[in-house]
Amino acid sequence: MPFSLVPDRLFQRYADITPEYLKGQGITLLLSDLDFTLAPKSVRRPDQPLRDWIAELSENGIQFMIVSNNRSGTRVTEFCADLGVPYQGHAGKPSPRGLEAAMARAGADRGHTAMLGDKLLTDVLAANRAGVLALMVEPVGGAVTAWQKVLHAMQEPFKGACRRRTGKNQ
Ligand SMILES: [Mg+2]
Repeated sequence: MPFSLVPDRLFQRYADITPEYLKGQGITLLLSDLDFTLAPKSVRRPDQPLRDWIAELSENGIQFMIVSNNRSGTRVTEFCADLGVPYQGHAGKPSPRGLEAAMARAGADRGHTAMLGDKLLTDVLAANRAGVLALMVEPVGGAVTAWQKVLHAMQEPFKGACRRRTGKNQ
C-alpha cells in the first residue's frame, strides 16, 4: 500500500528485532532512522547494546544503514562513524528517495529491504512509498515533550490497525 501509514510490524524497541525475524522476511538490508529509534536525540555516542545489535546483524549477513532527515550533520555523521555504519543523510522522508538512494548504494532491492523508525508520518510512510517492509518501534525514552505526546496519541489508531493485522501486541 504505497500511501499507507500502517506499519507492517510493531516492536517495543530495536533490540527486539532479531536476525532470525529479518531473515524469515527475506531481509538483507535494514535501513533505520536514528533519533528516538536507536537513541534519544541528546545522545551523542552509540552505546554498547546498540553496537552489539548491529554486529549481530552483520554476522548474519544483514547490511545496516542509517537514513536520516537530520540536516545538522555533525552529530549524525559522528554517531554513524563511531558505530561503523553508512549514513544516508537529507533523506527527505516521507519521500522515498533517501531509501531508494540507500538501496542503490547497498545493492539491495525493495523486496529484500526493511525500514525501521519511530514515526508514522516520516519513517513508515517513506517505507510504504518505497515498497519496503515497514517496521516501527516505540520512541526510545518514551514520549517526553508535549508534542511527542500528541504525536504518540495520533499514531495510536494506525498502530492498532497493525496489531489487528498481525495479531501481535507489539
Ligand atoms: Mg525518529
